[in-house]
Parts: sequence; C-alpha cells; structure tokens
Amino acid sequence: MTAGRQAAGGLRDGDAGREVLLKGWVARRRDLGELIFLTLRDRSGLVQVVFDRARCPGAAVDAAGEARSEDVVAVRGEVLRRAEAQRNRDLPTGDVEVLARSLEFLARSETPPFVVEDRTNATEELRLEYRYLDLRRPALLKNFVLRDEIAFRVRKVLHERGFLEVETPMLTRSTPEGARDFLVPSRVHHGQWYALPQSPQLFKQILMISGFERYFQIARCFRDEDLRADRQFEFTQIDLEMSFPTEEDVFDTVEAFLVEAFAAAGIAVARPFRRLTFREAMDRFGTDRPDLRYGLELCDLSKAAAGTAFAPFEKALASGGTVRGLRVPGGAAFSRKRLDALTERAKELGAAGLLWFKKTGAEVSSPAKKALTDAELERLLGAAGVADGDLLLAVADREKAALAALAALRAEAARELGLVDETQYVFCWVTEFPLLGFDDETKQWFPMNHPFTGPREEDLERLEADPGSVRARAYDVVVNGWELGSGSIRIHRADLQERVFRVLGIGEAEGKERFGFLLDALKYGAPPHGGIALGLDRICAIAAGAPSLRDVIAFPKTTSGIDLMTKAPASVFPEQLRELGIAPPRAPESPRENAASPGGPGETRPGR
Ligand code: ASP
Repeated sequence: MTAGRQAAGGLRDGDAGREVLLKGWVARRRDLGELIFLTLRDRSGLVQVVFDRARCPGAAVDAAGEARSEDVVAVRGEVLRRAEAQRNRDLPTGDVEVLARSLEFLARSETPPFVVEDRTNATEELRLEYRYLDLRRPALLKNFVLRDEIAFRVRKVLHERGFLEVETPMLTRSTPEGARDFLVPSRVHHGQWYALPQSPQLFKQILMISGFERYFQIARCFRDEDLRADRQFEFTQIDLEMSFPTEEDVFDTVEAFLVEAFAAAGIAVARPFRRLTFREAMDRFGTDRPDLRYGLELCDLSKAAAGTAFAPFEKALASGGTVRGLRVPGGAAFSRKRLDALTERAKELGAAGLLWFKKTGAEVSSPAKKALTDAELERLLGAAGVADGDLLLAVADREKAALAALAALRAEAARELGLVDETQYVFCWVTEFPLLGFDDETKQWFPMNHPFTGPREEDLERLEADPGSVRARAYDVVVNGWELGSGSIRIHRADLQERVFRVLGIGEAEGKERFGFLLDALKYGAPPHGGIALGLDRICAIAAGAPSLRDVIAFPKTTSGIDLMTKAPASVFPEQLRELGIAPPRAPESPRENAASPGGPGETRPGR
C-alpha cells in the first residue's frame, strides 16, 4: 500500500476510530439526498463510505453526489463501527463503514458497458473486449491472486530442491510436439523462418547435456492447433528436467509441488498418488485420464460373448474387436427414453451401437434378449457382476471405439447417479504408455508423445519387429479426469535415438536437418535424463474451481483465436511485409477486405 493509504477490503471492527485514506474505484452509489453511500473498491476488496450532510463537510457530500460508477477517487474519513442491525454479513468489511471528510476525483469514468460486479449477465464477448473492466470483478481478480500464489509455491519447492530456472528462446526451430507451428519470418534472412516453441523440450534436454542437472521453467508454449472450447494457442507449462533420474524422482518432485499448489486453494491432496499402467487405465476406465473419484469400472465381456449367435458380437469379435461392458448399479430404473439417448450418445462417440440389459428380480429385459439363449444371457450378466436392479451397457466394436464410448458413458452415469464428490481431488500417475501409435491413413508409426521418449529396456528388442508392443518410459499425471501433465525418461544415446527415428520413418537426412543439433549433442556425453511438463493454466483453473481456462488467463483469446481487446490478429502495412521479404497479397476488389492494407489514408497504425 502507498504510504498513508489503507486497503479498503482490510478494514475491520478493530479499526473503528481510525482516520484513513482510501484510493480506489466507485463500485456503487446510493443517493438518498441528505445521505449518500459509495461502495469503494480496490484490489483488497470493498468498503462502504458514508457521506452524511449532518456530519460531513458539504463539499465532500456535493462531490459524492457527482460520483459515478468506476470513477477513481481518494477518500479521507473515519472508520466507524456499524450498529448491530446495520452490519452487512455479505462483506468482510461489513462491520464498519467510513464516514467521509473529503472526496477527490483522481480520474472520471465513462459509463461502463456493463456493471463491474461478480455476478454479471454481460456476454463473454463483451467482457473480453473490455477485459480491463472484467478483471476488476473481485471474482475474477481472486483467480489471479491464486495463480500468483501457486506459481510462487511451485517455484519455491523447485528452487529448494536445486532446480535452476532457465529461460529458453521464443524464436527457435520447430519442436515436434505434434501440433502446427506458429512461424515468424526473419527480416535479416529472407525466406527463413523461426518457429515459436511448442515446448522447451529440446532445450531442456540440451541443458542436461550441459550438466545443469536440474532445470525448470514456467514456460510459454505455442501450438497452432484447432481450438476447442478449452484450449488456447498459447499456454503456460511448469516444465522441468532432471539428470540421472528414475521415474520415482520425477513423481516425488511433482507430487511435492502439486500438494503445495493445491494447498494454496485450501485443497488437501493425498500422497503418494495412485498408480495405474496405461493398460489398466484403459481396461478399467476406458481412458488414460480416469476420474478416480468413483468406481463404475468397465468389464471385458469378450469371453462371455464369444460363441453366441448374436450378430453384433460375432462381427466385432471376428474382426479382432472386443465386447466391453459397464454395469450401472440401480440403472434398471433408467427409462426407455434415457436409454435411447445413451444409445445416440454412444453412436455420436463413434461406437457401432449400444446394447443394454436390465435386471429386475428374475426378469431380464434387453433388445438383444431374443438373440441369446438363457445360458448365454446368464454368462454375460455374470461376467459383468450384474445384480438385481442393475443396468448393463455393452459395446461391441473395435477396442478404441468401445472404450471411448464407455468411458464417456461412465462419466455421464456417475454424474447422473450422484457419485461425483466435487470436494475430492484424486490424483494418479498413468505409466507404461505405448511408445508408438500407427496412423492408418499414412501407414506410418508416430510417437505417442514426442520422438525423444525412451522405450522400456525390456521391450527394446521388439522395436523393429513389433513396434506397437513397445512400452515407453512415459507417464501422465491425472486428476479427476483431467490430464495435468506428461513426461518421460528420455533417450540419451544417439544410436538409440537414430534407431527410433528409423522406425518413425525419419530418414538420416531428415533427422539431421530437423534435430541435428540434438543428435550431435547426444554424442558428447549425455547423462540419462527425464522430466515432465504440467499445464499451469489447467492447474489454476481446477484449483480455483473456474469453469474455463479463460478465467485464469489475464488476456485470453476466443475459441476462434481472436483477442477481442487488442483485435489481434490484425493486418500489417505492406511495407512491413516487404521488409520481411513477403509479397503483400494482391489487392482485392473491396479495399475493406484487403488484409494487408490498414485502411484509409492518414492512418498511422495498422488496424484489423
Ligand atoms: N515436452 C513435453 C510436452 O510439452 C513434456 C515432456 O515430455 O517433458 O508435452
């Protein structure tokens, strides 16, 4: 606080009788003629200021009569204890008010386009356009106070454990994290481009080769991906790397700072985190980011379904697929309409269809009942452990489709049955991911993570013969169905790195061209190393209970990638493009559509 100035939100009963100077914004004004109430807001909170003609100088009361929402004012006055009946339980400062002696306007405000209050019905577009007003809302501001605290605690834990915070370049080469790059043209070297980093991956590995042993960075990353509701082009990672680590060293470090980070929001996190292999997670929950706040585990019905004459089972199993089920306790009460909706949902999720079986007493109802013998039906329900009053949902399809559909239905059923405890935060590590995936279109193996992920030693002999069966020394940290971060123990030998590149179809020339510097560095004594990166935005959103990542990012972009406040992306002057050696687009018919022309004559700054 500036000398002499008090924090409005900090005033309490014990301050009664004090002379104070407050500076802040007019949040509300209530004018009763002889008596005017202003609610004054600063970063610390809100307090009521009273201007009473009977007790205050006339000039102060006159000035208060002129005050409008969002004016910036300086108020001097005396803190008074409020009468019991007049205490405001909704405000932390509600036991007191300030009787004004003077009011000075430091800046006037135009009428804001929406009322700056926690509860607002302004559209998000309007709020993003006037983000500076939006951020004045205490509910939003508190997310940034929390974010600051979380970042501080993470830094503290890492610093105390000997991690060095090192900045890595923003203007660099493409990093293979699997997304599209943002490119920046070079003015000095026409036709050459920098890429904004998708992550500091290669630099942090090089820092290990440089002998830094422990690195971290709260790093900005850029990925030009198709935006989904909750994804931004640029985001922040807690990025770290260690030399000579085992998986356990990484887990211990991450658990230590996550406990501190969530404690900042009053959330207790239990350690050690649970562990699941990828295979286990997929089989039991249908996803590699399981929500472990509830059970509702999936089951494999393939064995029980084999040998039946039911066409969907036969078809799926004959083509190498699977039959998986989800037992919903008490689900026999689901209406036909609800089941139809679930079936539609499963199809939307890419499954061939959804089968259901309801057990009520000795009675089983199901659209598949006629196609199955009693013994087959019993075998199926038995395999799923179906009891009286339960519903069994089953999908017969390729494994990927069946699991994806059932994972989504599991989450929906849990919500519907009230099984989700919103006060719980259940963390887990998912390990032993497959090293590679196969792209059916390009007929190529691709890295499930990035191409520097180390394979498990015992699987290495199958790398060329059966690449799909090789497990990686990769891990994800997951909470309540959200992936918070992923990492791995890396490849630290040039020969193995080249071998993996070969399996990925990255030839020697291409490998040299794209990652030559890493391959070279690996030849000069690279220590075994590994690390992880966690999404700071996501951590903050979960800890803050914020519905959107945009609530914890000061200046986010819309889902179509636009910054509504600055109006970026924007056109630039043709001259700027020429300097960069980029030909301005040809002038279209209408000058308004000309992306490279900043508008009318006389305009000095590029506009949108
Ligand atoms: N660079 C990886 C990522 O951004 C994380 C890691 O492997 O450390 O996902």
